[in-house]
Amino acid sequence: MNEDDIFAKIIRREIPADIVFQDDRVTAFRDISPQAPTHILIVPNKPIPTVNDVTEADEADLGHLFVVAATLAQREGIAENGYRLIVNTNRDGGQVVFHVHMHLLGGRPMGRMVAKPA
Ligand code: AMP
Repeated sequence: MNEDDIFAKIIRREIPADIVFQDDRVTAFRDISPQAPTHILIVPNKPIPTVNDVTEADEADLGHLFVVAATLAQREGIAENGYRLIVNTNRDGGQVVFHVHMHLLGGRPMGRMVAKPA
């Protein structure tokens, strides 16, 4: 585990971010490069690098990501129209930050589920 990854620093409030929710399990903040009118990252406070590293001990924290996603979708006003939740893993998944995170994207139609490679 990497306690020094950029999201761990945001969670500890060592670097600035637009944090919209935090409790003892997860932190949520606006993506620095939003791909939709609402683009929030929901992150377990525990620095799990990828989904490949998840264990049963993480079930409560990771299940809580969905509870927070539903709460934030309501708060953002996108729950009824809908939204997309994405968790990228490793190279083919397009993961860039190696601290598990869920993208909450909405506020416009999200299009096809996945883009074909160029
Ligand atoms: P992923 O490709 O799933 O690893 O997504 C990483 C996301 O983190 C990207 O959408 C980035 O724009 C976002 N990101 C990287 N650094 C920051 C930061 N300091 N604050 C907010 N979002 C960030």
